[in-house]
Amino acid sequence: MDFTHPYEEVDWSNSEHHLAQFHVHEPRNELSADTARHEPDVALEGVPIDHIGKNDLSEASSPGVLIQKYRNAGYTVFSLTEHEYQVDGKKYKRVPYDEVDADLDKMSWPWSQWGVDADELGMVALQGGEIRGDVEGVEKLHDIVSLDNDLGHGKDQSVETVLGEVEDRGGITFLAHPSKYTATEDWELYIPVLESSDALLGLEVFNGDDRAPSRELWDKLLTHFGSDRPIWASGGDDYHARARERYDKRFNRSRTVILVPELSKQNVTDALRDGKSYVQYNGDAQAPFIESIESTENSITITAPSAHEITWIADGEAVATGETVVSETLDDPAYVRAELSGRGGSITATQPFYLR
Ligand SMILES: [Zn+2]
Repeated sequence: MDFTHPYEEVDWSNSEHHLAQFHVHEPRNELSADTARHEPDVALEGVPIDHIGKNDLSEASSPGVLIQKYRNAGYTVFSLTEHEYQVDGKKYKRVPYDEVDADLDKMSWPWSQWGVDADELGMVALQGGEIRGDVEGVEKLHDIVSLDNDLGHGKDQSVETVLGEVEDRGGITFLAHPSKYTATEDWELYIPVLESSDALLGLEVFNGDDRAPSRELWDKLLTHFGSDRPIWASGGDDYHARARERYDKRFNRSRTVILVPELSKQNVTDALRDGKSYVQYNGDAQAPFIESIESTENSITITAPSAHEITWIADGEAVATGETVVSETLDDPAYVRAELSGRGGSITATQPFYLR
């Protein structure tokens, strides 16, 4: 059995690793670009929340401040993915699309309206939104992280229709925090969704402080589809800059690391489509970075000096530990993937390696 995997073409000695944030909202309160922590202080949580769910304790900072804050934390790829139902600071959740007067198609874009120039910051900016679609078997509309396209609202349509509209626009998507909606045992709900569109690249497996762990769900789907339909993982903070305790551990916690020869929008979206990336949950520290992934016909070796342990997972089961996995030791699984544990409960997860 040979391995085939998304890192085969990566030239590790000449690749750049870029921190990417693909799930973040416009600030709900005031924040500073120059701190690496959540703001405002969660001790202010007791302050009453107004009808649009915003803490009435400070003016919301410009999204430009948030972008600068992420840039200061090392991020060079960023998409501001405001909820489809949130426009100009007002929330229209659970109101049918047709019954809202506001321009729900409006997106948090372009950055120039906040005086931010991505090129000057050395960043790639992707137009984005957190849109929604109806997934059969899921009670509520399912959130979708939608990138590099101008679809501002899913209009309460089926997820297949929404994904089709993204595809028509040349965009890409990940299903946001799937385990928030779906128990692992109901993983088959996602089969028709994943079969419906290539614009859907995969699942957000880390969200914020890993509040909706979705790796077991991902494993079920990887086992089902194998290499016929790769499913890539993404990670995102889902940060709202709001003075509530549940946002305390969402800044700079979950992200995607993208491997590109050099930074450009085309290279970033190509890498996302091809799975040339890995995902991280920082826990209370910094998740291990991967220096290289080398493979031979029958083995894969990961070099990541700051990892405490590397666990190999095949068809949802831990099957080996250590930096190398050898195909002959595996029981003909659909895939194998690696999770690297690090300080502070951090986890780095690779994309799947397939066997043929
Ligand atoms: Zn969100």
